[in-house]
Amino acid sequence: MTHASPSGPASSGPAGTAFDAVDIIRTKRDRGTLTAEQIAWTIDAYTRGAIADEQMAALNMAILLNGMDRAEISQWTAAMINSGERLDFSALRTPAGVPMRTADKHSTGGVGDKITLPLAPLVAVFGVAVPQLSGRGLGHTGGTLDKLEAIPGWRADLTNEQMMRQLSEVGAVICAAGAGLAPADKKLYALRDVTGTVESVALIASSIMSKKIAEGTGALVLDVKVGSGAFMKDADHARELAATMVALGQDAGVNTVALLTDMSTPLGLTAGNAIEVAESVEVLAGGGPEDVVELTVRLAEEMLAAAGVRDADPAAALRDGRAMDVWRRMIAAQGGDPDAALPAARESEVIYAPADGVLVGLDALSVGVAAWRLGAGRARKEDAVQAGAGVRMHAKPGALVRAGEPLMTLLTDTPERFGRARQALEDAVTIAPEGSAPASKLIIERIG
Ligand code: URA
Repeated sequence: MTHASPSGPASSGPAGTAFDAVDIIRTKRDRGTLTAEQIAWTIDAYTRGAIADEQMAALNMAILLNGMDRAEISQWTAAMINSGERLDFSALRTPAGVPMRTADKHSTGGVGDKITLPLAPLVAVFGVAVPQLSGRGLGHTGGTLDKLEAIPGWRADLTNEQMMRQLSEVGAVICAAGAGLAPADKKLYALRDVTGTVESVALIASSIMSKKIAEGTGALVLDVKVGSGAFMKDADHARELAATMVALGQDAGVNTVALLTDMSTPLGLTAGNAIEVAESVEVLAGGGPEDVVELTVRLAEEMLAAAGVRDADPAAALRDGRAMDVWRRMIAAQGGDPDAALPAARESEVIYAPADGVLVGLDALSVGVAAWRLGAGRARKEDAVQAGAGVRMHAKPGALVRAGEPLMTLLTDTPERFGRARQALEDAVTIAPEGSAPASKLIIERIG
């Protein structure tokens, strides 16, 4: 039986096959399984505008509620890859003509997650090229490009040719994903964002992996965040998401592994843009907060192993300045001045410890929302971010604090934002009697 869709009669799919959007929605609503042809047609028709947003929203909700099996997720991912171009790094050579392997990292998003900044140049030290196509932040999680744009002169938009040249000459590039990569996902993600259909393992896994597979990396390490500041609030859902993405990557010939890592508290001591760049530079100079160093080194080891490089010592390359050299060349290649002073916020306000004891909790989501409200993030895609805004933390969980000591400094150019940022932080801090210990562990599990 066919049904006339509001957008008119069924239109032709990629292989000339015609389906009906309402039939497809009903199949998923009633817990049925979609065929590969139905899925290819759905993604193609939606990208062309032949399926209306309200129909795709209904289908997304049916998928969120009833799920997709592994074959459907794999076909959905393939259809999104086929909606655009695929990059190919197989011809990548150093200027001396030596073939280069590629490795990439993807984080599912968190608060204070600046790891890409030190990680990309660190991995490039060992001759593995890192094509890191990144995004801007939306909501409480920061975006890598927003952070790097705090560096005077740095630009995110490169052509494919510029990206290839930089990979060959410098070994690492962090830039915006071009519009040609998985365009179906761009349209679909914007729709999911406003229809309450982001939090589906099938839809998140296919969204992330379609972009990573289309990007053409040979090896991929996924940093799947768990906790209040992450999409996945508990380890079971994070594990399911990680296993689904690892299987999609392996099936597509990308050597993929995943780490489940803690996002119940922010990474490092900063959440914002310029302040996170400064903290990343401290790590590249051989210092920086322990958790940022630990995760950077572990992800570098995983990326290098996945790319087939054994016996590398990334911690040494942070200490001896080799990673810093690549960072400086990577920033300069994209017009940035690695020596320029970073923008600073015009106004600041301090939050003090309310009691003596051990700081056992500093909630990631609360800090992320506060940084966002201070101007480090954006509410709508077209909003500008403040380079200097954010939250600087003075203590991490586990630290002994005294009543009246500074716990956090709020930074913004627009002081009318302080009130709402303080509200976000009202329940962020947990202080327990001396002798108590925080519960969470940074690297929870490896999958793959
Ligand atoms: N990041 C993505 O790229 N897609 C999702 O669905 C969620 C996070």
